[in-house]
Amino acid sequence: MPKHRVILRDDDTCATTPVPYLEQLYRPFLDRGLPVNLAVIPEVATGTHTPDGQLEGFLRNGRELPAGAEAIAVGEHSELIDYLRSEALYHIAHHGHRHDYFEFADGSRSGLGEKLAAGSERLAAAGLGRPRTFVAPYDQYCPDALREIADRFDTFSTGWFDRRRIPSSWLPGYIAKKIARRPHWRAGGLRLLSHPGCLLSYNKDRETMLAEVQREVRSNGLTVLVTHWWEYFDGGAPDRPFIAQLHKVARWLAEDPDVEVIAFDDLRD
Ligand SMILES: [Zn+2]
Repeated sequence: MPKHRVILRDDDTCATTPVPYLEQLYRPFLDRGLPVNLAVIPEVATGTHTPDGQLEGFLRNGRELPAGAEAIAVGEHSELIDYLRSEALYHIAHHGHRHDYFEFADGSRSGLGEKLAAGSERLAAAGLGRPRTFVAPYDQYCPDALREIADRFDTFSTGWFDRRRIPSSWLPGYIAKKIARRPHWRAGGLRLLSHPGCLLSYNKDRETMLAEVQREVRSNGLTVLVTHWWEYFDGGAPDRPFIAQLHKVARWLAEDPDVEVIAFDDLRD
């Protein structure tokens, strides 16, 4: 019985994602039977910038999009859809709606619910089913967003939980989790998973990346490892040393008998 479970989550797959990028990153996982969870943007906005004024990484480092469109549904990228559907080990999570900056951080409850429903329709229409896990862009959410997410999903995966952003009726559960120092908890019928930051990031030291992942996985029963496909191709060319580290992680995850890699969909309480 493995002591440590791992969920690998790659964010920002959308209409800009080149299929060869995913294939290059994840073939070593798929060939070893390791599930990969892709957090997919249902209808990506084409003009989102980060506070430093740069176009978002998944817009900057992906496929050219048709000019003039304000947002593009993932289903329009048929090569990607065919690819994802051909690999049973790719699991889909629902990532925001258009991935506008902080799009689930505020707004009316009905407006937030409409965005979730529209995204769900987009993913289903694309042939990607109706994912049961939600990932909020930029880890930003508000109490009404969490209430709507709880009504529609089984699992919410985010960086951390902020007591000012959770529904007040969830506070007892939140406090119990804090006292017990648990990374994951439940409230409102929703499974709430935190993660230890993006250990697999282009901002991190490649020399210590595998060791950091191992340390984190070995100190928890369940670890969500988060990464972003476009960081491995920043500037349009593969960052081979970074990709090599990801593939070292794949090998270790597959070979360590104490580790089991699962999908969000495999979680049972
Ligand atoms: Zn994202």
